[in-house]
Amino acid sequence: MSKLNEIFGSNVFNDAVMRERLPKVTYKALKKTIDGGMPLDPSIAEVVASTMKDWAIEKGATHFSHWFQPMTGITAEKHDSFISPTTDGKVILEFSGKELIKGEPDASSFPSGGLRATFESRGYTAWDCTSPAFLKGNILCIPTAFCSYTGEALDKKTPLLRSMEALSKQAVRILRIFGNQTSNKVTTTVGPEQEYFIIDKLKFDLRKDLIYTGRTLFGAKPPKGQELEDHYIISLKERIANYMSEVNEELWKLGVLAKTQHNEVAPAQHELAPIFTTSNIATDHNQLTMEIMRKVALRNGLVCLLHEKPFAGVNGSGKHNNWSMATDDGINLLDPGHTPHDNAQFLTFLFAVVEAVDEYADLLRCSIANPGNDHRLGANEAPPAIVSIFLGEQLTDIFFQLENGGAKQSKSGGELRIGVTTLPTLPKDSTDRNRTSPFAFTGNKFEFRMVGSSASIAEANYVLNAIVAESLSNIADKLEKATDLNAEVQKILKKIVAKNKKIVFNGNNYSEEWVAEAAKRGLPNITSTVASIPMMIKEKNIAVMEKHGVLSRGETESRYEIALENYVKVVNIEAQTMINMARRQIAPAAIAYSETVASAINAIGSAGKYDTAAYSELLTDLTETIGSFNNKLRSLEASVAKAAEMHGDNYAHACYFRDNVFVCMNELRTDGDKLETLVAEDYWPFPTYGDILFNV
Ligand code: ADP
Ligand code: MG
Repeated sequence: MSKLNEIFGSNVFNDAVMRERLPKVTYKALKKTIDGGMPLDPSIAEVVASTMKDWAIEKGATHFSHWFQPMTGITAEKHDSFISPTTDGKVILEFSGKELIKGEPDASSFPSGGLRATFESRGYTAWDCTSPAFLKGNILCIPTAFCSYTGEALDKKTPLLRSMEALSKQAVRILRIFGNQTSNKVTTTVGPEQEYFIIDKLKFDLRKDLIYTGRTLFGAKPPKGQELEDHYIISLKERIANYMSEVNEELWKLGVLAKTQHNEVAPAQHELAPIFTTSNIATDHNQLTMEIMRKVALRNGLVCLLHEKPFAGVNGSGKHNNWSMATDDGINLLDPGHTPHDNAQFLTFLFAVVEAVDEYADLLRCSIANPGNDHRLGANEAPPAIVSIFLGEQLTDIFFQLENGGAKQSKSGGELRIGVTTLPTLPKDSTDRNRTSPFAFTGNKFEFRMVGSSASIAEANYVLNAIVAESLSNIADKLEKATDLNAEVQKILKKIVAKNKKIVFNGNNYSEEWVAEAAKRGLPNITSTVASIPMMIKEKNIAVMEKHGVLSRGETESRYEIALENYVKVVNIEAQTMINMARRQIAPAAIAYSETVASAINAIGSAGKYDTAAYSELLTDLTETIGSFNNKLRSLEASVAKAAEMHGDNYAHACYFRDNVFVCMNELRTDGDKLETLVAEDYWPFPTYGDILFNV
């Protein structure tokens, strides 16, 4: 590997490159747009495009691409070469400002949830200059937002950018109230920790379920799972270590701040965490990270599984979305301050998050819903489907003291007051660690742990930004009118405690007791994707997104339809794959083995005085299980056939898949897994959990 500092960002058209190559005036104007949100001057785009092209071509680029994030949750790109013909039969290389700013991909093949009628299939991509362009091989990739011709968002980036602006606007209001005249913008920051599995490609290729659905649809529990806890952060196997270092090098070239890597709890499970950056760049970088992890794995005869639950019975994979708010002059607004005044401001921001998460727990739950996450949430050391907040002992103590007329005492000792009175320095990292909370305060940021490993982090973040913007806006409305700021702050915080304290829970979120306790508190426990999708179109939730300009009513409604359609498609593919494996692989294997056992009974029986009872017992087990397996297979087939005839109402369709097809799938699996334990290894048609998980 060449020197780290030389390769880092070497494929990025970053600030350093722009400063070096762009004319001073152009650079300054572009920075104003990037940092200050000023509209982009088209004449500037011309200069930037030409400079970008020269830089890219020097590095071997032949094409450019508007890189965008349609509602499929992954990225899309269409490549155009730089060539333009000349009259003498040659070409010159061109890239105009117009081509940089705007692209017109055919939008008709991407999900739009009815927003774009097929006769009006044009969509356009618009340059997002706040995320730097980069080189992927010989392609110059330009991060873009993807909209319909009438301006409706058809992607996940557009609402994210809108939500960042919305939050900034409200957060700056609060800062002004607390006397800050120097910060002009607040950016949300995100550091997503990415979990994944790495398995051998030769094993992967033998499993249709992994190939078609990304998860195993059959698989008996192996003799050893994760119970010895002998995988978490142990030293890396050489093959994995090499894989990780190749991934890092690729990511560093792309300017991704890949920082931490380690083994996770489950066998074959690992994690990669970057250093945090703006929500927008973090989202782009997380997409690149997933892409690079997959690519590098294949190059090494491995496969990277990003599904939330590739294997039943062992931990699933998530994405811990670390989130905070920072001013343009470097203040982390969730960092407890050093003065009483800072602390009042800190508590205001902190409580705004608490209020937002409680008031919009249903919407937040919905933001991380996908069919894969249904298997993960609430199972094997993953947060439950119930949203709650962990504040840690000290902050919880302050929280509840405020309810009773103001905080006087800090747990760590010393006077604790707000505003006029004195608040002690809240020691950084005063929070104890809680690994079970879905939404945990971790000293100077929140860690939202419900996000699924395969998902784009955009949705979780635009929802989070929008709902916090709403709380901040409500608080600012009151504070701006207050004559006595300190008294008003106290009053507002007290009210939040009274109204939203039910969301605070520091105990064990994995326990049965919490489920009962949460129900008593009236917290929503939305256990499935299908049940959470309608939360999107609840009137209060449409309203908050609309009020802050993040999603219009129409945009939300289209997302609702897309999410339901996606659920139906995913479960349908899984069901079809199961049927295929059951009919064409498992049943034949079980029958072939039964035949061997039956022949053995005949042969051994006719050989004389031998007792064949044990053989017959096995044959009975086999035939009974095959019979039951067959019945369940028929039920699943019937259920899928019925689903295929349903039309119209996406919600009803999704409910049918969850309540019928999916139930049939689970029943079929039980028998399939039993057959795996009965049939001889040599007869079994695909690698088992043990073969896959302990063979990298
Ligand atoms: P852990 O949660 O495993 O203890 P860390 O606390 O070091 O690990 O950080 C986890 C992630 O949180 C990293 O990606 C880190 O960059 C990110 N992070 C740290 N500070 C912030 C912040 N202010 N905003 C957003 N993410 C942050
Ligand atoms: Mg963490």
